[in-house]
Amino acid sequence: MNTYLPPLKPITTPWMHSIMEDFKLQEAVLETYNSPVNLHHLGAFQDNIAEYKSILDTYGFKYQLFFARKANKFKNLIPAAVEVGIGIDTASLPELQQCLDLDVNPKQLISTAAIKNKALLELAVRNKVLLIIDNKDELDQVRAIAKSLNQTAKIGIRISGFKHQEVKLFSRFGFDVDAVIPFLETYFKNPDTHKRLSVEGFHFHLDGYSTAQRGEAIHQTLDIIAKLKHVNFPISFIDMGGGILMNYLQSQQEWNRFKDTLKQAVLEKHDPITYNNDGLGYRNRDGHLEGDLATYPYFNENSKASFLKEILETTNTENKTVAQRLKQKGIELRLEPGRSLLNQVGITLARVAHRKVDARGNHLIGLEMNMSQLKSSSADFLLDPFISYKNPNPDSEAVPVYFTGAYCLERDVLLKRKISVPQLPEIGDTVLFVNTAGYMMHFFETEAHLFERAKNLSLTNYPKTFSMDDIEEEL
Ligand SMILES: *Cc1c(COP(=O)(O)O)cnc(C)c1O
Repeated sequence: MNTYLPPLKPITTPWMHSIMEDFKLQEAVLETYNSPVNLHHLGAFQDNIAEYKSILDTYGFKYQLFFARKANKFKNLIPAAVEVGIGIDTASLPELQQCLDLDVNPKQLISTAAIKNKALLELAVRNKVLLIIDNKDELDQVRAIAKSLNQTAKIGIRISGFKHQEVKLFSRFGFDVDAVIPFLETYFKNPDTHKRLSVEGFHFHLDGYSTAQRGEAIHQTLDIIAKLKHVNFPISFIDMGGGILMNYLQSQQEWNRFKDTLKQAVLEKHDPITYNNDGLGYRNRDGHLEGDLATYPYFNENSKASFLKEILETTNTENKTVAQRLKQKGIELRLEPGRSLLNQVGITLARVAHRKVDARGNHLIGLEMNMSQLKSSSADFLLDPFISYKNPNPDSEAVPVYFTGAYCLERDVLLKRKISVPQLPEIGDTVLFVNTAGYMMHFFETEAHLFERAKNLSLTNYPKTFSMDDIEEEL
């Protein structure tokens, strides 16, 4: 059968290459901070923020960006975001507390936590941080806390259930759009409630990556605001959450070829290209292919700028665009990107611990890291890694390998794809996974086996070549 392994070459930036090409530096970093280690470039993060601002500036409506902090735990990102004038979207009590401890202006903070306990609600109300309210129980508690502190709490109302092409977009989060107007009208009949709760905007965050759904949701939210005119809320914003698509891969052709080859492998018409012939969502049912690829859509033509543009230029039945209506009504658009602000911001380095050949003849490369330290919420992280060799040999032949991790689970295989590497790595060589800052390096990281979490570091002095002196530790 065909043993071809389709590559998926990631998009990279020069700062990454200056690390990838410097084995001595990698060795020193791993020696000092242990394996694996996460390196971040804060300049690249700030460049992404500047890119969003320059797109949004062209429309002339008011806007504010909030970095969705949950996408990456590295503390140094917070001051980097604040330095260039954007806010932080916090999704837990510790995330909010940490921002306050770092002296972030409470006006630049919001709390969208899915579960808000009393301590979180109190901290937010005391510090005048805007809370995005998910349900009536939260609303009741915030009202009571505001009353006991003799304050007015700033809130936004999370809504969901928008209709798109006659289909309701169901969600577990927020108030249903079909019930929210009567609910608010009744709830705020009492003048004391008005005194305690200041409704400043509406919020939604949609699953998936449809620009049409997002555009439609903003239109429907603008309609809700218009219908609520007589309730006298100081509504100033619509927060459209995150979920702005980004592109990880260089080539659409490679992406298509990978998917085709995977399907052939699942149908047993091609040698497996994944560990245990994992279909990553595709299944073989009696020789017929079922299912869909269950990974993030790593290749996208429509990302960041064009994705935003499509949302803002979605028209309503009166042929008005989102951007026109926001400007005309003086409503501020808030965005909470996480992943896409971390595009090209981080890499993960791990040291090779051993090599072996399993009973099927597969080369397994054991790395000093575990599956939780590079884990996608989708079926796999589909970017080719880079290898930095202590003793590179230009005459060596490519070898197909799997990378295995330190957890005592059969499934601790770091990438499910079989990867063709230019030469068999040796103990002490470095494997570099690129563009891992958005969710991949942190979101699922655990400390099983008492392994310590990976150290997070940042680099300064871009675009020079780096030395150990350019590496900053976590604040
Ligand atoms: C996760 C989340 C975000 C960030 O989403 P990205 O896909 O990382 O851009 C923003 N807002 C809310 C409410 C979220 O839950």
